[in-house]
Amino acid sequence: MSQLRVRFAPSPTGHLHVGNARTALFNWLLARGAGGTFILRIEDTDVERSTRASESAIHDDLRWLGLTWDEGPDVGGAHGPYRQSERLAIYAEHAQRLIARGAAYYCFCTPEDLEAQRTAALAAGLQPKYAGTCRTLDPAASSRRVGAGEPAALRFIVPADREITFVDAVRGHVTFDTGIIGDPVLVRSDGHPAYNFAVVVDDALMHVTHVIRGEDHISNTPRQLLLYEALGYEAPAFAHLSLVLGPDHSPLSKRHGATSVAEFREKGYLPQALLNYLALLGWSPGHDEEVLPAAELAARFRLADVGHSAGVFDEDKLAWVNRQYLKVADPAEIAPLAVPFLSAAGYVRALDAEGLAFVRSLVPLFATSVDRLQQVPERLRVLFAFDPSETLARPDVRAELESSAARDVIVTLADDLATAPRCRTRELFRAAAARVRQRTGQKGRALFHPIRVALTGEPEGPELDLLVPAIDTGAELAASAGVVPIAGCRERAAAFAAAL
Ligand code: GLU
Repeated sequence: MSQLRVRFAPSPTGHLHVGNARTALFNWLLARGAGGTFILRIEDTDVERSTRASESAIHDDLRWLGLTWDEGPDVGGAHGPYRQSERLAIYAEHAQRLIARGAAYYCFCTPEDLEAQRTAALAAGLQPKYAGTCRTLDPAASSRRVGAGEPAALRFIVPADREITFVDAVRGHVTFDTGIIGDPVLVRSDGHPAYNFAVVVDDALMHVTHVIRGEDHISNTPRQLLLYEALGYEAPAFAHLSLVLGPDHSPLSKRHGATSVAEFREKGYLPQALLNYLALLGWSPGHDEEVLPAAELAARFRLADVGHSAGVFDEDKLAWVNRQYLKVADPAEIAPLAVPFLSAAGYVRALDAEGLAFVRSLVPLFATSVDRLQQVPERLRVLFAFDPSETLARPDVRAELESSAARDVIVTLADDLATAPRCRTRELFRAAAARVRQRTGQKGRALFHPIRVALTGEPEGPELDLLVPAIDTGAELAASAGVVPIAGCRERAAAFAAAL
């Protein structure tokens, strides 16, 4: 049996939509689970809409998700080139083969002719299809016209009265009657191949064994099967994935909010969480398990288990999956992903190794209390921003600090920290708190609440055992660390006591 080969074939005309990312993922899961090959092919024959910037953004998004490819435009491979715009000679040669076999003909219909045909069909309540006007032209005469420079498209002859049936790995038997299919354009008059033609030539020459793509392409499949037949190539297996829908069951679009992988990255979802969530859209790994790493998903993935009902994208569920990953993730992995958010908030810039290690040490402060990394700067704000007069202007805080006991705690804390070592560890902080307890007689909430307010400027927030060492470690960072200056506990307590 030939080795499994699948491909993801995006058109570089915009951002990578999560629906397309899921298509890429299902191909990747199948390849990785079966020891097969995952190919990235760039379908950039729409010259007006395709851009290199979009292609490189798609590369970045796939890599960010961890969907690495074995063959593709940047990594090469034995069946390249992997960018359709670099394969024009291959398509031209295949077009000649079809002409020679009498399977294709030149069409001189102008866009206006075609539009008129379309309008007439729609007016008659018919599904528009090419009327076949140029099919009966004498091929030799047509070739002469083309040779003389007359613009012409190349069309494929769809045989009349045939039923095309294929077994779709997701949808089962699918049948189309060729009567509804107009002769498709293979090569446009500008010389560029049309999608249906290029995709068949490429899938055949790249030895693709399984074509897994969105169900919006299902009606192209009979045309493609006829082309495989006409070219004498063996057709691959097909699997058409249902579309990703928004909560109102219409295809997920801008109206619903974020749609691209880049937008979800910017919102602070972890790549492994988005990947895991997308895998669950239309497929289940079984045993009611939902949070599984990519390698495990790949090991369990089977096309036969992909459902044909559409997947509804549920951002709350994605946020839930994200939280599960945040809770268990390795700080070394999370820290670099959190840096762009801290940097956008102005808290860090050009971190050196010490700065990055500091950010890594902050991960436990937020990992269990945010849904997404975008919320990290807000969660860590108390570390970077400290303004006692602003805190004391808040009526709720003011009221809590009315009692002389609370004030005593703060003044004593300031006095103690003035000479104590910085609380760089939980133990040093505990020792300082114990001294304040001894001197003031306050304990429990009456002790820790004023301490919290004085050191963080907030009545609530992350655990002091974690926060205080972070503050005092931050206070000692060298300027080269790349973290904005952090006021230490000593300075905070003194400033707060003075502002009381
Ligand atoms: N370029 C096509 C798309 O982005 C690929 C379709 C296919 O996989 O055949 O929709």
